[in-house]
Amino acid sequence: MNTLETNRILETLQSLYPNVECELIHSNAYELIVAVALSAQTTDVNVNKVTPRLFEKYPDVLALSLAAINDVQQIIKSLGLYKTKSNNIILMAKIIVADYDQIVPNKMKDLCKLNGVGRKTANVVLSVAYNVPTIAVDTHVNRIAKRLGFAKNDDDVLQVEKKLMRKIDRSLWSDTHHRMIHFGRYFCTARNPKCNLCPLVDICKEKNKNIIKGK
Ligand code: SF4
Repeated sequence: MNTLETNRILETLQSLYPNVECELIHSNAYELIVAVALSAQTTDVNVNKVTPRLFEKYPDVLALSLAAINDVQQIIKSLGLYKTKSNNIILMAKIIVADYDQIVPNKMKDLCKLNGVGRKTANVVLSVAYNVPTIAVDTHVNRIAKRLGFAKNDDDVLQVEKKLMRKIDRSLWSDTHHRMIHFGRYFCTARNPKCNLCPLVDICKEKNKNIIKGK
């Protein structure tokens, strides 16, 4: 991919989604990290249905660290993996209370020590809660990066993240992450991408495969 193509992709995504932000409802770093941890293998819409009750009952990290697991399970049981997620967010809260003075850490190495927090979740927290430029590679970003030629099909998520960071100006990392998620969620979906409407069809590596079934 050359610089001209990169710039065209970024400008197209910007014009499609000029104002982008995280779709997980949250009002602080605690609510965000819990919401992102709960979002694994489900949608933001589903997470947003359970978090108001969860945060009403457990309004801060200390309250969640003292929660009974059965109660948390009841509140989030509509989500997949709710038992594991309940366990993870309570243990995560305990560590934040014990080791970080009840403040969600703002360093990658510290975030990744928390239960249920991997590199993707950490990058979202750094970007959204702390305004640190990052590119969190979720399923949408991974797919779009490969279709548009930022990365190879057999690259793992860390390789995809590094290639995106190399090719995109740091000042655009966070916005591009959100724009790629929107593009993947609403336009270039996994199964029925809208190839026949796509302004990037000439750049796409999968257009021949998808344009036939594009809607
Ligand atoms: S041509 Fe289709 S698969 Fe390629 S980026 Fe556009 S919508 Fe996605």
